[in-house]
Amino acid sequence: MTESIENSKQLSSSEAASYDAIIIGAGMAGMYQLYRLRELGLSVRVFETGGDIGGTWYWNRYPGARFDSESYSYGFSFSEELLQEWDWSEHFSPQPETLRYLNLVADKFDLRKDIQFNTRVASAIYDEFRNDWEVRTESGARARARFLITAVGPLSAHTMPSIEGLYSYEGESCHTARWPHHPVDFAGKRIGVIGTGATGVQVIQEVAKTAAHLTVFQRTPNFCAPLRNSTIDEETQRKIKASYPEIFQKCRDSHAGFMHIADPRSALEVSPEVREQFYEKLYGEPGFGIWMGNFSDIMIDERANATITEFVSRKIRERVDDPEIAEKLVPKNHGFGTRRVPMETNYYEVYNQDNVVLVDLLDTPIEKIIPKGIKTTDNEYELDMIVYATGFDAVTGSFDRIDIRGVNGEKLKDHWADGPQTYLGLQVVGFPNMLTLVGPHNAATFCNIPRCIEQNVEWATDLIRYMRDNGQERISPRQESEDEWTKHVYETAEFSLLTKVDSWFMGVNQNLPDKKPTFMAYLGGAPAYRAKCDEEAASGYKGFLLE
Ligand SMILES: Cc1cc2nc3c(=O)[nH]c(=O)nc-3n(C[C@H](O)[C@H](O)[C@H](O)COP(=O)(O)OP(=O)(O)OC[C@H]3O[C@@H](n4cnc5c(N)ncnc54)[C@H](O)[C@@H]3O)c2cc1C
Repeated sequence: MTESIENSKQLSSSEAASYDAIIIGAGMAGMYQLYRLRELGLSVRVFETGGDIGGTWYWNRYPGARFDSESYSYGFSFSEELLQEWDWSEHFSPQPETLRYLNLVADKFDLRKDIQFNTRVASAIYDEFRNDWEVRTESGARARARFLITAVGPLSAHTMPSIEGLYSYEGESCHTARWPHHPVDFAGKRIGVIGTGATGVQVIQEVAKTAAHLTVFQRTPNFCAPLRNSTIDEETQRKIKASYPEIFQKCRDSHAGFMHIADPRSALEVSPEVREQFYEKLYGEPGFGIWMGNFSDIMIDERANATITEFVSRKIRERVDDPEIAEKLVPKNHGFGTRRVPMETNYYEVYNQDNVVLVDLLDTPIEKIIPKGIKTTDNEYELDMIVYATGFDAVTGSFDRIDIRGVNGEKLKDHWADGPQTYLGLQVVGFPNMLTLVGPHNAATFCNIPRCIEQNVEWATDLIRYMRDNGQERISPRQESEDEWTKHVYETAEFSLLTKVDSWFMGVNQNLPDKKPTFMAYLGGAPAYRAKCDEEAASGYKGFLLE
């Protein structure tokens, strides 16, 4: 392979720089992939739209942005030195700290020298004759590489709502995923927040602290659960550092890479008293335990799910003083955990404050944005600032925003028109040598993501090493592999209540009315997924065509 790479470098025209691999995106996936490929001796170029490394943690600077994963379960595990060097100050780190951590990683491993920032990739076209990819940036620059690795992020293509008059607004406005780099002051202002997903719930709690007045525009209430964050004292810090192998092993053993392992019992096999006690315990504990460490059937059996749904609904009603407002905050169209669970500290208590008003858009939808604020069907709200917490075009959104074409000029968007078709969520028939980290139908999309990023990257790196060692230059999945995997993804998802409701896991975003709903994640579990990937590698990549 090295020889042919040299050839391709010589063949390339003067305008197109040539590399062994091009990575799109410098979030955690892109950063780690760069590190591993460089270790392999490959020449690598990373293109990143943002002005620096960090992806999610570069863009989402809104007040309140923080982990739902335990900090020490989220960081990279590949360097013992890094693990020992870095101190997480809170169990659920806030965004500025996470970005500082990722900066340390970038500095320590000298990553930036191979990353081109402020550069959005507009297209990636496979050249069958040369067996390489030509990438064009938005500014028209070109680069070529044998391998194209997408690390574009499952939640990075943000969406604005399709509301009339959006740009007629005269006050300050910003999307949470495009938050300014300078501090934004809410004090004394009338703020409107649109959206009550995981991000909306985080930002609302912060805005409510200082705003003169906060109006929350809620379309779909979500079941939120207490985060119970706290700082990490010295003794705990020492213990965490001494137990990293156990922490990561626990994550490896769990269904979705978290430190929470589901209870094997059914919610229905225990007495109501035992169940209540268990739910109380989970509600009182930090993190996703109430979602990921709950009875094993709350996500697959509607009757089991109804028990935790009733419990959390009761908690909401207890925490909100006004019963009418509480009713608006209790979801009626889905059960607990069947959509992404937002984590909170005093979210429900915010609605007991005099300076906060909840507008239920199911009763009174937004008609339009007006120069002075927001007009619903029954009122006009004058606002000094609008915060759009309106989410992302999840998983496939960032792919759709790049013109990716494979063999015979086939567009990836067309290949996925009826939903993603992949093998292992990592490769696509007709798109040779393209690897989709954290892509659709990959276990990483329902995971404590860095745990799955490491698995994805290490698998991709091993594959590239294998090809180099065996003189192979082109890999593409067999058609039957892609068909079987896609079928398997839907079959494993069928049992889950996650697929019975509208959410980003189902590719549903009401701001994207033309997007065809289809299941985006893989629910067979990270351990099974890892085993399948390992089996594929051990077989000499039998599910693929290698030339
Ligand atoms: C607010 C928030 C909180 C989260 N909290 C958690 C959590 O607690 N636990 C958890 O597991 N996950 C969490 N996530 C999910 C999070 O996205 C992942 O954990 C992880 O950061 C994904 O890393 P990534 O490298 O795959 O993607 P990203 O971090 O999204 O990075 C992708 C990068 O690709 C770049 N890019 C995309 N398209 C192009 C293009 N065409 N050209 C050039 N560059 C491009 C983007 O600019 C971006 O920087 C959270 C997400 C959000 C939004």
